[in-house]
Amino acid sequence: MLTVDEAVARILVDVPRMPAESVPLRGARGRVLAADLIARIDVPSFDNSAMDGYAVRAVDTRGTTPENPVVLRLVGTVAAGAVGPGIGPGEAAAVMTGAPIPEGADAVVMVEDTDGSRSGTVAIRVACPVGRHCRRRGADVAAGTTVLISGTRLSPARLGVAASIGQATLAVTRRPVISVLSTGDELVEPGSPLGAGQIYSSNNAALTALIEEAGGAARDHGTAPDDLDATIAALEAAIEGADAVLTTGGVSVGAFDYVKEAHARLGAEMDFWRVRMKPGKPLAFGRVRRAGRVVPLFGLPGNPVSCLVNFAQFVRPWIRSAQGDPRPFLPVVSGVAVDDFRDTPGRARLDRVVLTRSPAGIEVRSAGSQSSGVLSALAAAHGLLLVGADQAGPRPGEPCRVQVLDPGFWDGTGPDYRW
Ligand code: AMP
Ligand code: MG
Repeated sequence: MLTVDEAVARILVDVPRMPAESVPLRGARGRVLAADLIARIDVPSFDNSAMDGYAVRAVDTRGTTPENPVVLRLVGTVAAGAVGPGIGPGEAAAVMTGAPIPEGADAVVMVEDTDGSRSGTVAIRVACPVGRHCRRRGADVAAGTTVLISGTRLSPARLGVAASIGQATLAVTRRPVISVLSTGDELVEPGSPLGAGQIYSSNNAALTALIEEAGGAARDHGTAPDDLDATIAALEAAIEGADAVLTTGGVSVGAFDYVKEAHARLGAEMDFWRVRMKPGKPLAFGRVRRAGRVVPLFGLPGNPVSCLVNFAQFVRPWIRSAQGDPRPFLPVVSGVAVDDFRDTPGRARLDRVVLTRSPAGIEVRSAGSQSSGVLSALAAAHGLLLVGADQAGPRPGEPCRVQVLDPGFWDGTGPDYRW
């Protein structure tokens, strides 16, 4: 049986890189840049004032103090977006924040250090060095420099940088199309009444949301009944036009577990079908060739917790990699166990945990039942406690590592979160 690391490594072999497409800035948040972004202009593209004040020649303010101000002749007022007259010796121009520095000026005195006059003359009360309160052309971004490299995740600030160099669209990798298909005669879509022995399918809703969160485009194929021919037909439809296919359930050794058989009938090459981890031992991973493309098939376990924990370990990294993200993994933080997490070693464990901040660091507590059927404990969790296959797990007070699913624990109330 493979370890989690071995399974991840096998899944991330030869991940196809999605082709580039051009998208408007609005809507590009979270996408991955498909090419280096090079600035064609300087930002700012002209020297401008960082303050509301007066553009002066620094030399004219030499030796000036509040007791001994210098009086300069005002030649005009320059607003942001306007171009003002130049200044000569003994002259100043009123400038607003963002206004171009007038020809001849080399410093700005802020209005608070003057008498604030708007006409005739202005009294300057401080000496100022060359360049004071001037934003130099190219100081933010110099033309010709690479502002964002290929593979960068587009955060709001990065979109702002792209806008600042005049970019209206960006080349990003296409969203990988990921099909989702549940299997199970017992499954009913939310919104329909439950019959005897039936349960609502939760995997489709959770997986499609996880796919979108990872930057993929989810296609929900609903549920296939526990029947080999029906599973083959539904799987074939799910493969059509998809970059990867996720099925849930029907992948262990039960009498009606047809997914592996369906993979084989569709010509898929099985890579592995079990991983030494808890929750979620059964994971059938194979690849099928369709129209010259290789489509990975992830046969995820049906248990909702196992299904989603498997997604986080194996599918999410694939979706991120396919978009060209060089850092496809979830963050891992160090914490201190508050509860007793010891159990018999044997399989790598990913326990659902709640995180809280304390002056000593991050405290780690169980999020509730660790049974793989209890989805509500995963819903309450911020992360997964990582326990190696040969380890028992931390006792109270011992250090531990947690894969963060929901960074929301960093937000909150209390004195810690305020300035
Ligand atoms: P299986 O792997 O098909 O044996 O399913 C394992 C367990 O997960 C069973 O209790 C199933 O009812 C449950 N299960 C399978 N698929 C889903 C689903 N889409 N939503 C919720 N539970 C499911
Ligand atoms: Mg089943």
